Amino acid sequence: MNEYDSNRILDLTKKINYTSTNNIKEADCYVLNTCHIREKATDKVYHDIGRVKKEFRNKKKPIVLIAGCVAQAEGDILLEREKYIDAIVGPQSYHEINKIILSIKDKDKKINLTEFEAIEKFDELKLTKNSNSKISSFLTIQEGCDKFCKFCVVPYTRGPEYSRPLSEIISEANQLVYNGSREIILLGQNVNAYNFKNKRLSDLLYLLSEIKNLQRIRYTTSHPKDFTLDLIEAHGKCAKLMPLLHLPVQSGSTKILKNMNRNHSIKQYLEIINRLKEKNSSIKFSSDFIIAYPGETKDDFEKTISLVKEVGFINSYSFIFSPRPGTPAGNLQEVDSKIAKERLFIFQHIADEIKKNYRKKLINSNAKVLFENKIKNENKFFGRDEYFNSVIVNSREDLTGKIRNVKINQCNQNTLFGEVITDTQHKEHAA
Ligand code: SAM
Ligand code: SF4
Repeated sequence: MNEYDSNRILDLTKKINYTSTNNIKEADCYVLNTCHIREKATDKVYHDIGRVKKEFRNKKKPIVLIAGCVAQAEGDILLEREKYIDAIVGPQSYHEINKIILSIKDKDKKINLTEFEAIEKFDELKLTKNSNSKISSFLTIQEGCDKFCKFCVVPYTRGPEYSRPLSEIISEANQLVYNGSREIILLGQNVNAYNFKNKRLSDLLYLLSEIKNLQRIRYTTSHPKDFTLDLIEAHGKCAKLMPLLHLPVQSGSTKILKNMNRNHSIKQYLEIINRLKEKNSSIKFSSDFIIAYPGETKDDFEKTISLVKEVGFINSYSFIFSPRPGTPAGNLQEVDSKIAKERLFIFQHIADEIKKNYRKKLINSNAKVLFENKIKNENKFFGRDEYFNSVIVNSREDLTGKIRNVKINQCNQNTLFGEVITDTQHKEHAA
């Protein structure tokens, strides 16, 4: 979501004649868009500002803005401690960025803008063309969270759940496709909580499917509690919806899920997975895990391991519980750090083995790949298959924006390598 927000910040600042630069030395204004989900986020802000200070030693300082969730949560402290910062802009206030920049230029004053209303931001953004022309583009449809999992800062930094109007989303999607996008990834902290005048995520998926040149749709991140039957149904009916679902579970123990305030059991989670498989037999899953949540026993941890093996997640994102100030779990007694590290090691080893086995089986199979870009100075193209795996092929033809059948020949931990095959070869292989 921060990538989407950063692009929108860029679109907004173009209106006052700013453009992006890859050369930090050239910048007149430096925007640091931050994430607060795990600890060390604030340290990173000070570290990055240190880098900017170094670059601009003995030169006129650039305007320095801190945006995102660290700004929202710790704005006052940042402004007090680091005088090099000119302004703090929370995630629901960045539509005001031009006013902020111009006012700093004029009056040299410090600003802290951390309003919570998402509606105003999106009202402003709908008037600003999304200029992103990447083959695969993000589109935020929902923001904020009302779920208050005990470990999480999001409800405090992004504010309450808000769903953007359907028509605004469709119009932004059309703009992205017009700019050249062929895949749209719908974003939200709880994307499947989307509800605008009783129109749900499933309604949106069907409407987006009608956009002619849009080839692929994905969405992230969804919550098991909001996985309604209409959405499960859409996975069987909506051909443009890709068959990889990221469905965070956090723990394999229902007791821990209850302590986290996740509001569902492992039985209910597995029911969703099984129903989705009934609707779409090719669907696969990825998930997030918090290891060593306060109170996690050996038995709870083993339940997490069993779940990973049972579902066979093709990608697992796992972190040791990180206590966040201001959250209900922030003050709980932590699991001994040596035990926590051991559990993370065991978990990641097993999750990696599952991933490796899955990827090994892809060798000699065919994949449908949407190509995103040419690799610099090489006749190679980068794309993704339906399961979001990175794929690289050699090609003299410009494959950007095209979907091709690719025979996979090799793989490493992160990338699959293959060759484009013709339609006849594809049919022969299938036969
Ligand atoms: N809304 C999504 C959900 O409920 O599944 C997840 C959004 S959260 C921004 C992304 C991931 O960060 C979570 O799934 C969780 O695994 C991880 N996370 C959040 N707070 C954490 C914490 N305090 N310690 C460790 N991991 C955390
Ligand atoms: Fe955080 Fe997701 Fe829980 Fe909301 S549902 S509080 S975003 S983990």
